[in-house]
Amino acid sequence: MTTPQLKQTALLATAAITALTLITTIFAQQQPAKVDAKILAAAGTAKDALPGTWLTYGLTQTEQRYSQLKQIDASNVGKLGLAWSAPLTQPGARGGTESTPLVWNNTIYQAMDNSIIYALDARTGAQKWMYDAKTDPITASHMCCGTHNRGLAISDGKLILAANDARLIALDALTGKELWQTKVAEISQYYSLTIAPRIAGDKVVIGVAGGEYFIRGFFAAYDLKDGKLAWKFHTVPPAPGKPFEDKAQEEAAKTWTGDWAKYGGGGSIWDGLVYDPDTNLVIAGTGNAEPWPLELRGIKKEDWGKFTNLYTASIVAVDASNGKLKWYYQTVPNDAWDLDSVGGFIMADIPIEGRTRKVIMQAPKSGVFYIIDRTNGQFISAEPFVPVNWVTGFDKKNNGRPIINPDAYYDQGKTVTIYPGGGGAHNWAPMSYNPNAGLVYLPYSAGSYNFTAAAEPDPKAGGGAHGLGRAGQTKQTPMPIWGPDNVGRGGLQARDPKTNTIKWVKTGRGGATGGGTMTTASNLLFQVAGNSLYAYKADSGEELLALPHNLGGPAPPVTYLVDGVQHIGFATGTQFLSLKVGGTAGMPAPPPAPAGKGKGAPKGPPPPPPPPTELHGPDGK
Ligand code: CA
Repeated sequence: MTTPQLKQTALLATAAITALTLITTIFAQQQPAKVDAKILAAAGTAKDALPGTWLTYGLTQTEQRYSQLKQIDASNVGKLGLAWSAPLTQPGARGGTESTPLVWNNTIYQAMDNSIIYALDARTGAQKWMYDAKTDPITASHMCCGTHNRGLAISDGKLILAANDARLIALDALTGKELWQTKVAEISQYYSLTIAPRIAGDKVVIGVAGGEYFIRGFFAAYDLKDGKLAWKFHTVPPAPGKPFEDKAQEEAAKTWTGDWAKYGGGGSIWDGLVYDPDTNLVIAGTGNAEPWPLELRGIKKEDWGKFTNLYTASIVAVDASNGKLKWYYQTVPNDAWDLDSVGGFIMADIPIEGRTRKVIMQAPKSGVFYIIDRTNGQFISAEPFVPVNWVTGFDKKNNGRPIINPDAYYDQGKTVTIYPGGGGAHNWAPMSYNPNAGLVYLPYSAGSYNFTAAAEPDPKAGGGAHGLGRAGQTKQTPMPIWGPDNVGRGGLQARDPKTNTIKWVKTGRGGATGGGTMTTASNLLFQVAGNSLYAYKADSGEELLALPHNLGGPAPPVTYLVDGVQHIGFATGTQFLSLKVGGTAGMPAPPPAPAGKGKGAPKGPPPPPPPPTELHGPDGK
């Protein structure tokens, strides 16, 4: 070959390589970054391979809702305004949501009530696709407290929806096309789903709601690939005489007595489920025993307090590979007061009494903040975060077993006034944890409720079949109440988990339900409460922002990057709002009021939330 020929060949080769590199680059840009078990294990942490996304319900698998993003800080959070808003209403579909969105591949995935998903372009808010699971028409009448959905899961290119009529559905995350469906349980038997599914390696985990009806609760794992059942853990033993599924059920059976099984047993899992990649455990919070009054569960008066009814009102940890029980801690033994062990978990490594503990924390309806060693279920501490009277202490010699106040039990002839109130001291509104500030942020409600038993549970009763009688205003023996005295009727409290004590409180700000919290590495704390977004300094609680919107339906706030710029986003009942520093001032107009109501959008800040007096308030599951 002559020199010019060589030169030409070299040039051609260079051109070919350049073209190939360009094509590869374009192709790589068009291919969305993959989400798998490894990516999820680091999601939201300092080692996040896809920074600026929101890939799992609680941002990290520890569910701290602590973002590494810090472009938005105390100096500029006051300038937050609209980047865009997008409608979340479809003709014929009811608005409303309790769902935490996911953010991946420049797409925001927002689930709404009634098992509807919107995929929105994170840059513009344009709708990429919409999916309606078209649930069974009986669904709403078979759910105690609304056709809610709290979020989605994503992995392996699939978006997983827990549809209200107890179906688990996998969609292609890019197109919204259905890939598989699995029937988890029967809606006709009052099983439903409201919880966000969680990814555990190559499986997706889900728990059933319906604990106010005659269900036998369980949570289960399905193969992400095809939706095939991998394992199931029952939170209530089988009916007497039926074979035990495993040793855990045999042990649980010893804690039930009498003719309890005709009413199912309860033990639903409707909020509070995590996968811990460190220990390979799936940890679930379980609901009340069903029916609520002990006498209807077959427990004679002399045995009140004796039969604990495992694994209801408990924190239950199972091996993620096979669903076998590893440990449990019962937050309310022998529950008679609808004190579901719900509200999301937070996992963290925290120095307590001189050593770092791998803890799991929960602030359930019972009004007590529990801190447990998540590797083995060892009790660390429990402290009331609102006034309580169902419990008088925790037996440290017996792994912190709650000591039930014997006067808190009731029957057809006895009415009791129990603290906290109906709906619980903390419901589904997500907590968050800022490791720099060393604080957990907890929306709460304080109050009381009267309990008395009915003669029979009524499956057609509004809000469920729990067997509560009409509590009159008869005089009751006052019971001693203990807990903090500075928390008012509800609000937001910051707790130091090292000592399990309150650091600061904002009363009158939200409550046990609605919105919830999220915190960032720039020492900010965000809260959605009522119809407003608030921002505070995470360490001191100093308020930096209050942004009203009048659009209803508060859902949890999240944060993400759009073309390298940090945004704050959350769904209202009717619109998704994406905010950035320097965005447009003002909020979109609320949709017209439904015919007959005739009430326009009020101007100015929204009214304070109603006091938590209803037993089945909007979220009193
Ligand atoms: Ca319940």
